[in-house]
Order: sequence, then structure tokens, then C-alpha cells
Amino acid sequence: MVSYPPAMQRLVRELSRLPSIGEKSAARLAYHLLANDRQLAASLSKTIHEAVESIGLCERCFFLAESTLCTVCSDPSRDGSIICVVEKPMDVVAIERMQEYKGLYHVLHGVWAPMRGQGAENMRLNELTQRLDDGTIREAILATSSTVEGDATALYVARVLRERGVTCSRPAQGIPKGGELEYADDLTLSRAFKGRNVINL
Ligand SMILES: [Zn+2]
Repeated sequence: MVSYPPAMQRLVRELSRLPSIGEKSAARLAYHLLANDRQLAASLSKTIHEAVESIGLCERCFFLAESTLCTVCSDPSRDGSIICVVEKPMDVVAIERMQEYKGLYHVLHGVWAPMRGQGAENMRLNELTQRLDDGTIREAILATSSTVEGDATALYVARVLRERGVTCSRPAQGIPKGGELEYADDLTLSRAFKGRNVINL
């Protein structure tokens, strides 16, 4: 049986490991890079290498950063009394796009989903509680997705933070149920933040 040359097979295999890329899409992408656009292939490979070398996680909030602190954490004009807790770095970018929120962030890099074997240890929650130690943070907006797991995560985090005297709120409804924050448009997000509801446990 004739198949792709080994180097292309490897490329297809690696591409198909990306989220939402199946084997057929991976083969189409590989063919495009190798047969139609070798210049793109070269610049893509160089850009990926450079990004991997230079981008890490902010040591305070775990957003993406090119140095020890991200651009938000190193900005002295941000309001250090309020923190917005999100699941993924893409959520920070979505919230920044509306240009209204001036507080800090904390990226959990996970959700609380014990049914799938993902407990609190899979989130950057300890790092969040350590940030409360100096008493500067007074309010947390828990902007996890409006999915079952996102809601459960928000409640779990709220319990932990409230024990430490932090007021917790959740963006108002408006972000479609099951919709992820990163896909919400700016106006919807802005309304959801302004009308956020305090979580009373
Ligand atoms: Zn940061």
C-alpha cells in the first residue's frame, strides 16, 4: 500500500495532535505546506520555535509572558484590589479587548471536574490563595466559562476565597449558556461584567 513519505507522515501525525485537527485536516495542511507554500512552512517553523523559546507563564498570574511578569502584572496603573479568575490565557485577551476592566488576573489553567478526575490540584488554586496573603485583593470576579464545569469551578474557588475574606462575584448572565468566555462579543462581556452578581454561599 502506498502511503505518504515518512517525513510527511511524521508531519501529519504531529499536526493531528493539535486540538480540533483530525487526520484528514492534518494531511491537507501538510500537503499545503509542502506542496503549495514552502515559504509559509519555513516562517511557521521559525515562528513556532521563537515563540516556544521566548514565551512562558507570568510567575504571578500565569498569563503568557515574555519575562518573569506579564504586561498586566508589571503595569503599576492596574487596580491591585480586584482580581479576575479565568480558565485560559485566551479569556484574559477577550476581557482586555473590552478595555474596561482595570484589575489583575489569575489564570487557573484548568477546571474543577472531579468526574473527569480533575481535582483542585489541576488548577493553579494554591498559587491564587498565596496571592491573597498580603490582604491587598478584596474582590474576585470568577469569570470561568458558563458551562457546568465552569460553574462548578467558580463555586469551588468562591468557597476557598470567601474563607479568606474576599468578596466573590460571577459575571451576569448574557454569555450564552455553554458558551466559552473567549467567544463572547465585547458588548456582551462588558454587560456581564458590569452586572456581576455577588456569590453568597
Ligand atoms: Zn501576570
